[in-house]
Amino acid sequence: ASDAIAEKLKAELAANNLQEDVQVILTGCFGFCEKGPIVKVLPDNTFYTQVKPEDASEIVKEHVIKGRKVERLLYIDPTKKETIEDSKQMGFYRKQMRIALRNCGFINPENIDEYIARDGYQALGKVLTEYTPQETIEVIKKSGLRGRGGGGFPTGLKWEIASKNQADQKYVVCNADEGDPGAFMDRSILEGDPHSVIEAMAICGYCIGASKGLIYIRAEYPLAINRLKIAIEQAREYGLLGNDIFGTGFSFDLELRYGAGAFVCGEETALIHSMEGLRGEPSNKPPYPAQSGYMGKPTNVNNVETYANVPPIILKGADWYSSIGTEKSKGTKVFALAGKINNVGLIEVPMGITLREVIFEIGGGIKNGKKFKAVQTGGPSGGCLTESHLDTPIDFDNLVAAGSMMGSGGMIVMDEDDCMVSVAKFYLDFTVEESCGKCSPCRIGNKRLYELLDRITKGEGTMEDLERLRNLSQVIKDTSLCGLGQTSPNPVLSTLDNFYDEYVAHVEDKK
Ligand code: SF4
Repeated sequence: ASDAIAEKLKAELAANNLQEDVQVILTGCFGFCEKGPIVKVLPDNTFYTQVKPEDASEIVKEHVIKGRKVERLLYIDPTKKETIEDSKQMGFYRKQMRIALRNCGFINPENIDEYIARDGYQALGKVLTEYTPQETIEVIKKSGLRGRGGGGFPTGLKWEIASKNQADQKYVVCNADEGDPGAFMDRSILEGDPHSVIEAMAICGYCIGASKGLIYIRAEYPLAINRLKIAIEQAREYGLLGNDIFGTGFSFDLELRYGAGAFVCGEETALIHSMEGLRGEPSNKPPYPAQSGYMGKPTNVNNVETYANVPPIILKGADWYSSIGTEKSKGTKVFALAGKINNVGLIEVPMGITLREVIFEIGGGIKNGKKFKAVQTGGPSGGCLTESHLDTPIDFDNLVAAGSMMGSGGMIVMDEDDCMVSVAKFYLDFTVEESCGKCSPCRIGNKRLYELLDRITKGEGTMEDLERLRNLSQVIKDTSLCGLGQTSPNPVLSTLDNFYDEYVAHVEDKK
């Protein structure tokens, strides 16, 4: 629809001889999916929502030519029932803080000049001319940035370990294999701001002593792939990738590698095997990729969102970044808000914000006036949190303590009509499908867990089955080889803990 709207706007401007004076620019995602497609008119920042191609003519004739806003396309605040023109005043954006998403919706991602105009590649220039690799690593360490792919490992420390391992060749890898159902954080960043990731990977290459970078991206992301290809080409033309960048003697270049969409390939050793042309199966750690990764060489793997945070940290400083967030989780986190919520979309919030603020203020509350029941964080391997967790500040450690996890940023809201046993079964179905089959606790255990849940939801379960569920879940968690198996029973355990009465009702009512 956005392409059709852009074409109609261009045609209408041309019909009025305005094509030289007014530009139509396709940007990345604004995040407010519920109200898309969005057209923003500059310089007055008017934010039109749910625009259709047939609205283009009115936008040009009324707004552009006569300076009169098209009232019916303005956003209406659902509580006050008044129109809001400035997106910063909307409930959806008011509490957001956009660092990783800073350029999404602002720049044309296919034009490197627009990225440069918003301080793009200045961070790379700064580290290459002012900092040693170790000094740069110190900035990242001091900032407190932790991996946004789910693990939460300190990024600066990871870079330092890779920098200390000596080899004739090292690699910087970007994990863009986003596999959680309903998650699209990384895709949005790559579609809206690909240069931020390219710049950060070059900075990482300088820090660890790598001249080669690889972006492992799922082949189902054609727009992100296309924009990355354009961005890499443009960066090469501008001398920002390739040999002797900024005349400093530092060389770095990038290639793309395509994934086939296996969830397990988000695990870094599986991802590396897949890039090597092998089966995408995890292997035991140690050795860690920082010691022996791609082609047996020291390799640093971070995900898209982690890299997107790096340039602003270098430019604004570690103290600025570490002033945002909680004691052990600094900065912001991008979440894909989905499920029974009014404002479905992509948000970026400071760590420490509560689930209540995210769901009821940014998310606008539960659809159709229904009652909130639970929120699943951490994707298919996360846990379901309840009303009693709504005032929990969101950070890596609090979510784990509450029985869930941060994961890569999926957040699915459920209402009073959802059966939590069926929800657990839905996620188990996904993990059974996605298990690589290498180790038996995950391959066989999850299948048995699914069968138990299936029996219970059909009214054929017994109270003993509930005990079996818990015991088997614990065994799978304790004995699986990789993170997928170690976390796959989380939806079962968290719903057993928080919604045990629903399991009992299935058993006792036989339905
Ligand atoms: Fe494969 Fe599951 Fe074992 Fe991981 S835990 S290695 S996904 S079978």
